Amino acid sequence: MSEAAINAAPPLATAAGRDSIFAGHPKGLGPLFFTELWERFSYYGMRAILILYMTSTAAQGGLGFDVKQASSIYGWYTMSVYLTALPGGLIADYITGTRLAVLIGGIIIACGHFTMVFHSLTTFYLGMALIAIGTGMLKPNISAMVGKLYKPGDPRRDSGFSIFYMGINIGALLAPLAVGYLAKGESFKGFLSSMGMDPAKSWHWGFGAAGVGMILGLVVYLWNREKLATVGSKIKSRSQLQANEPADDETVQPALTRDDWKRIGAIFIFFVFTILFWGAYEQKGASLNLFADRLVDTTLFGWKFPAPYLQSLTPLFVIMLTPIVTIIWLRLKERQPSSPVKFTLGMLFIGLAYVLMIPAAMLTAQGRVSFWWLVGLYFLEVCGEMCLSPVGLSTVTKLSPPKLVGFMMGIWFLASAVGSKLAGYLSGFFVSDNSWQLVKLYGGIAAGLLLATVLLALLTPTIKRLMGRVA
Ligand code: GLN
Repeated sequence: MSEAAINAAPPLATAAGRDSIFAGHPKGLGPLFFTELWERFSYYGMRAILILYMTSTAAQGGLGFDVKQASSIYGWYTMSVYLTALPGGLIADYITGTRLAVLIGGIIIACGHFTMVFHSLTTFYLGMALIAIGTGMLKPNISAMVGKLYKPGDPRRDSGFSIFYMGINIGALLAPLAVGYLAKGESFKGFLSSMGMDPAKSWHWGFGAAGVGMILGLVVYLWNREKLATVGSKIKSRSQLQANEPADDETVQPALTRDDWKRIGAIFIFFVFTILFWGAYEQKGASLNLFADRLVDTTLFGWKFPAPYLQSLTPLFVIMLTPIVTIIWLRLKERQPSSPVKFTLGMLFIGLAYVLMIPAAMLTAQGRVSFWWLVGLYFLEVCGEMCLSPVGLSTVTKLSPPKLVGFMMGIWFLASAVGSKLAGYLSGFFVSDNSWQLVKLYGGIAAGLLLATVLLALLTPTIKRLMGRVA
């Protein structure tokens, strides 16, 4: 599809046209919700089995890497996925527009997953590289498009992002179940054998399913393109504007003001703390996935479920808690905590989550521990995530100068990138036969997070000053 076609605005793409309803929100939220749902399905599905595939032996169909090497690759990979958001955001701001960038990104991601259907080191690395490049084009820009659905000051913006975040998490919930089953489910392996296929190749069925998810996302996106009206079309340059077209609020590109710089400063402080948050949070696909696989008893009512299934708990909790959190924020109205306070709460919750891992780690000395420890950890972690992640997305779209929203979203995801690398580094300290080492790993993470919570609380008045009226 040409740029002109994807950017083409249907007649009368006015603010009123955009305001038709999707759950009380602009109708463009619908396609963005479903496209991102499927993109995240592909991402989290692949990631749910990634470290297990790397650390499985060749006889099990895996790559036979040790924990250090696999954790390090996990860190590099998840870092790259979010790092590319920066050039991805810039390309959209200056060249393609967010709308076309999302399409190109989705196509590249799907190619990446399908590359991993083949078992070789070359296809393994190539697949991950393609997913990283594609995600960089898609993720910041689809988030920026959500922000563009709302005019400045529209009170529905935060709740719009919560709904969008729910879409993300529906994808993230379904993916480990589907992909985890294909990769590690005993009955699926039995089915492959009965069909005369190699059950050790089950991993690649998982990677393929992730690719199918992304294709569904692209279908939804293209199918509904007229609902997006002009949202995310290429921003016109000043000379083009002066030539013949009337300016609207999305196409004018004024220079950055002093207030813009202050707000960028506020984003920067959030950025630093957010790195620590994701460094802990992203253990989920790394050391905690190994913890679940090797040290947790995954038997429920006599049925032993695949360890990656536990990765679905986080999104499940997000989906359960989103309506509650939305109601709390709505009830509190003006008494609602400011974004820096919400961020501080986010850090506190995730710090408490890791405190829970200290006794869990100690108990591994006596054999496999109950999976309820991880249920508790993921629940507290999600309480933190709800205060930080959707609020962060929304705050970035509120605080960024309009011409830089793709780029600033890239900065937001840069924190995820650095945090994910940190997560991979920390995960390298995971061992399955030394409970004291695990206590040090998870206790250390808890201590770092609680310290950061105190620091952020102390910085809150400064951040509020920088944010001005937007806080
Ligand atoms: N879970 C969210 C998502 O997948 C946040 C990820 C992140 O920013 N690290 O979009």
